[in-house]
Amino acid sequence: MNGNIGFIGLGKMGLPMAKNLLKNHYNVFGTDVNVDALMEFKAAGGNTGKFDEWISDVHSIILMLPSSAIVNKVLDEIISSESSRPKANQKELMVIDMSSSYPRDTKENSKKLEQSQISFVDAPVSGGVKKAVEGTLTIMAGGTADHFQKCKRLLSAMGTNIFHVGPIGSGHLIKAINNYLSASHLLASCEAVQLLESFGVEPDQAINVINQSTGRSGSTEYKFPNFILTESYDSGFSLDLIKKDIGMANQLFKDSGAATSLPEIVFQKYSEASNALDKEADHTEINKFVSSYLLKGGF
Ligand code: NAD
Repeated sequence: MNGNIGFIGLGKMGLPMAKNLLKNHYNVFGTDVNVDALMEFKAAGGNTGKFDEWISDVHSIILMLPSSAIVNKVLDEIISSESSRPKANQKELMVIDMSSSYPRDTKENSKKLEQSQISFVDAPVSGGVKKAVEGTLTIMAGGTADHFQKCKRLLSAMGTNIFHVGPIGSGHLIKAINNYLSASHLLASCEAVQLLESFGVEPDQAINVINQSTGRSGSTEYKFPNFILTESYDSGFSLDLIKKDIGMANQLFKDSGAATSLPEIVFQKYSEASNALDKEADHTEINKFVSSYLLKGGF
């Protein structure tokens, strides 16, 4: 057995990631507010329970939660649970936040955890549900070189491209900017393909040509063929979560004083889509929202 790990947040990403830890012979204790997720994790061989019940048995805790607000709350609970135990019973503990969290909150959380002698690494992921299932995620970690070395082996049970990108918060920073880029490509591609369609070009053909040309992106190479042209809209990454990431990137640009309007425009479009579409909508359904405002005139 490779060691005891806690895992909080067994959702679309967290559940397959935790299952990969089990496959790699870690003894995993999982916590989630969703009972169905817990049942599925238990069926895969995981231990379940509230983190108070297992925190003294683990050396690392992974978070895979929807938002910084929830991460902040859970970290406060971890700190209070750890500090309520007699000093003699406390052992080395590392928390790894693999959620897409707000970098400024990550820096603040790092200070709080340090005061409680808890090590902290931010290690968000890219690659979606498919790569989470395969264990081939890209992982961008922020933290000290020493902390990164300590958790690298654990991360390699969930991903194949593992980068140490800088001090604490850097992973979350790159992740927010990456998703802003990804959301921008997706929006531009949806508008472009629908414009071409209104001129009589078949979407399949448009995507084929773009994918052999310089306009290609992850959206045209992967999301269009798999989720948009098939109309399955089931990438497993919700519109609400990508909107959160674009909002973080937009705020970071604003805070930096950058004289750019692009992040605000992209954020506005995804916010309008989120108001117009179903609460549970997949992020690829931005294509449906685009069709509600794009003129279908043609030549
Ligand atoms: P999800 O909503 O499917 O999963 C989140 C899980 O956290 C749910 O099971 C929920 O019940 C649980 N949860 C919420 N509050 C909790 C609490 N207080 N304690 C314990 N569990 C709690 O979301 P997801 O798609 O798995 O995404 C998780 C994180 O990964 C997000 O930060 C997201 O931005 C990021 N991410 C998602 C994808 C993707 O393709 N879905 C890709 C990369 C990164």
